[in-house]
Parts: sequence; C-alpha cells; structure tokens
Amino acid sequence: MSLADRFAAITTTERPARTDVILGRAVVLGSSMAGLMAARVLSDHADEVLVIERDETPANDEPRPGVPQGTQVHALLPSGAAQLDRWFPGFYADTIAEGLVEPTPDQAYTYVNGVRRVTPPPLTESRTLISTRPFLESRVRQRTLARPNVRLVHGRADGIGFTGDRVTSAQYVPAGSTEKVSVDADLVVDATGRSSRLSDWLGAAGWPQPRLTRMPIKLNYASALFDRKPDEVLLSTAQTMAGTGQKPRMGGVLPVENNRWLVLVAGFAEDRPSREFEDFQRRCREDFPWVYSHVVDNNAMAGEVVTYHQADSRRRDYDELDRFPAGLIVAGDAVASFNPIYGQGMTSATLHASCLSAYLRSNPPLDQPAWGYLRDVRVVVDAAWQISTFADLALPHVNGPFPRGYRLTKWFTGLIFSASLYDARLNDDFARVTTMLAHPNLLAQPKTLARALRGLIPRPVPVAATGDR
Ligand SMILES: Cc1cc2nc3c(=O)[nH]c(=O)nc-3n(C[C@H](O)[C@H](O)[C@H](O)COP(=O)(O)OP(=O)(O)OC[C@H]3O[C@@H](n4cnc5c(N)ncnc54)[C@H](O)[C@@H]3O)c2cc1C
Repeated sequence: MSLADRFAAITTTERPARTDVILGRAVVLGSSMAGLMAARVLSDHADEVLVIERDETPANDEPRPGVPQGTQVHALLPSGAAQLDRWFPGFYADTIAEGLVEPTPDQAYTYVNGVRRVTPPPLTESRTLISTRPFLESRVRQRTLARPNVRLVHGRADGIGFTGDRVTSAQYVPAGSTEKVSVDADLVVDATGRSSRLSDWLGAAGWPQPRLTRMPIKLNYASALFDRKPDEVLLSTAQTMAGTGQKPRMGGVLPVENNRWLVLVAGFAEDRPSREFEDFQRRCREDFPWVYSHVVDNNAMAGEVVTYHQADSRRRDYDELDRFPAGLIVAGDAVASFNPIYGQGMTSATLHASCLSAYLRSNPPLDQPAWGYLRDVRVVVDAAWQISTFADLALPHVNGPFPRGYRLTKWFTGLIFSASLYDARLNDDFARVTTMLAHPNLLAQPKTLARALRGLIPRPVPVAATGDR
C-alpha cells in the first residue's frame, strides 16, 4: 500500500463496523487529547478503561497546569475535527450549539507576507474547529467519560511493570497520597505529553530507548482574550516568512466561545513578545495586517497577556527499535510534538487513536509488540514532521537536522507554496495537506508540479504588514 493510501486509511471518517472486546483492563496515562481519544477507542475493546491523570479536572473551561499551552491559541484542523465526529457522532453540531463559533470562508483572512491568500474552496470533509483549548478538551473529556466503562483516576503515573516481555501493570501515586500503587493492565497507553518518561522507564528496565530527534525552533507565543460583540466574526492567520527581509512572525485572530476574541502574536529566537499589553498592541498595529489592530484597539482585554516558549519540535521513533514490550502503546506528544504554528498536535492525537482502533480491530497477537500500530503512527508523524520542519528549516536560527534531498524538496515545496497563493486549485491541494486531510505526497504528483510550473510567471510577493481592507 502506498503511503498516501495508508494515510487515507488512517484519516478515514468511517465508523468501525465491528469492534470486539479483546482486553480486560486498559490503563491510559494522561487525560489530555491523546489520552482521552485513546480511552474512547479502547472503550470499544476493553471491559474497563482506567485513565490516570495528574491534574484535577477543572470545574469550568479553565486552563490547567498539566496542559500549560492551554492558554494559547489552539485550532483543530479539519482532519482532527472529522475524527472527533467519527468517534463522537454529532460532535461538531453539538459544540456549535454549545457556543462554538463557525466563521464562513468569506470571514477568513489568511495572509502570507501581508498578501491575502485566495480563499480556499470549502473543504467538504470537515471544518476547522475554533475555540479555546480548555473548551474543546472539556467537550472531549465529557464524552469520553460518558462511556460506561471509562473511569478517571486522579494521580501521578510513575512507571510500568513487566512480566517477561510484556507490560502487565501501571504504577501511580494517587492524589493526596505518597504511596505508589500498582494496577494490573492488559494494555498500557502512555499519553503523558512531550515530557513523557516512557523512554526512561524502558531504559531502566533494560529495554532499548528510542532515538530522540529535536529541531530547535525557539518559538515565542503571546496570546490574549478580548471581548467580542456576538455578531462580529472574523478569522485570521498571518505569517511573515523567513527570507523576506523581515522578521519571521506569526499571528492569529480567532472568534471563540463566550463572545471573546483570542489573539496571538508570535516570534522566534530573540524576537519575544512580552507580557505587557503595550508591546502586544504595538505588535498588532505594526507587524500584522489591519484585522489585528482592529480587534485589539476596539475591544477590552479580558484577563492578561500570557506568554509561552517552545524550544524545539521533537520526535521519538519507537517503531525503529528492534525490541519493544508487548502490551504497550504510546500516543500524542509523547511520540512527537511539532511547531504549534502549524496546528498539527491535537489532530495527530486523534489520528493516533485511529491507528489504535485499526490495530485493535486487526486481531493482533497481544503477546507481541504493537508494531502495526507503531508503524501507522510513523506515517502520521512523518507527514506532520515533513510539513512543519521543512518550513522551519528556512528560519535563520534553525540549523538542522536536514533530511535527505532537502534542497530539491525545498525548491519544489517553495514553488507549490508560491503558486498556491494565487491558484485556487493548488491552494486546495496545499490546504488538504497542511490540514492533514491528505498525505504530503499529494503535492509530489507530476500534474501538481506541472500546474505550479505553468503559473511560474514571476510575481513579486509583496511584504506589507498592513495588507488589504
Ligand atoms: C503554544 C502551543 C500552541 C498550540 N497550538 C495548537 C493548535 O493550534 N492546534 C493543535 O492541534 N495543537 C496545538 N498545539 C499542540 C497541542 O497542544 C498538543 O499537541 C496536544 O495537547 C498533545 O496532546 P497530548 O494528550 O499528547 O499531550 P498533552 O496535552 O501535553 O497532555 C499530557 C497529559 O498528561 C498528563 N500527565 C503528564 N504527566 C503525567 C503523569 N506522570 N501522570 C498522570 N498524568 C500526567 C498531563 O497533566 C496532561 O493531561 C499547541 C501547542 C503549544 C505549545
């Protein structure tokens, strides 16, 4: 099967026709997007699913310490939104009814180097889901915990236990206690995020550890909420790219639930937005198109400017190991976490759950490592990594690692990217790939290249921060 076909099978929105219970107890470590989605899938295949989470469940849609990025702009790409509808039928419609805002294509302003992109044709499969991160996560949590065989336990996961070549238990310290307890499990899922300790736990038990690859992106985010009039809906992303003579920057204006705007300004390396409102406002006025100052100058800020630094994109290639225990799964950021400006993380987590479902429906030998799952996850990680790191390698402070064939792929991707700014068809293909609806190989087809070359009439790409109006 080609990579594109495997990717299509993973991103399918078809609901499984048949699911068999093949596990007694499954234990999931971490209850953020990856853990919740894994628990939802496991609820079809296990008598009991125990989810162990360090944080208390927030009473309202508030950010929580275990997901410190939760204050920052988050959007769920169409592929991830489609997966939520797959696993929780009616999710999109129900969340609209609960206050999710749905901008129409003509309310979306996407800028590259100050130039507004042609409006992408509607992506029929699904739509980007725009809300605050805690709002989205709490809707996924409610629906997962509504499954009768899923239970959330408050405690800190602290290890896994082995019987021979199999993981057969998970250890955790219950909240309010200092004593570790062990719970038997037929399958353990590590979904504890990018600081997962699974590799250390494996190493300590004499198992090989996965290769860890890091790309130092040095990304600096600042986000703030503003009041919004209910009928005012605009959606914007804006990007100034490296190599234009200007500082590479990224911004976003999102209409979110409870009549709020969520506004983001981001820079790299030494270009760090501060927590001062004046700096935030100046950046919106001077560095971004009109939409940004329009929102920030005309509405009251709700709360404070919150900053966030992400040092690197990173991946752990568990599928490459020559030995891996049976009864063990790893999902979400614990496998790979990317530059967040591409919005791939939560969608990847939903796709890892899709890989888990396919694995559990394949009549797998449970006394063997879940290689089938790990290989499918690799397809998802490679696709997301290719998109985000290729773009990041153009940043002046990023010095690798460069993949094989980098120069040629850079030329080719740059060509398609430029053409997609003006060509609606290429824009659609490009959007399908960047929103994880299609594998990047869609852009490597000869007909795509031919179309991009045909449009290669030299066009100046203006670098204007004010954009259109
Ligand atoms: C600034 C920023 C902006 C982003 N924007 C987007 C975006 O627009 N779109 C998008 O799709 N993605 C975005 N992401 C990425 C997204 O936040 C992550 O990919 C996603 O949250 C990964 O989910 P996860 O469940 O794998 O891990 P996490 O969300 O990191 O959650 C890990 C969970 O495990 C728990 N945990 C950790 N250790 C333990 C332990 N020992 N015991 C018990 N529980 C534990 C934590 O409390 C937490 O609940 C962004 C990331 C950042 C940093």
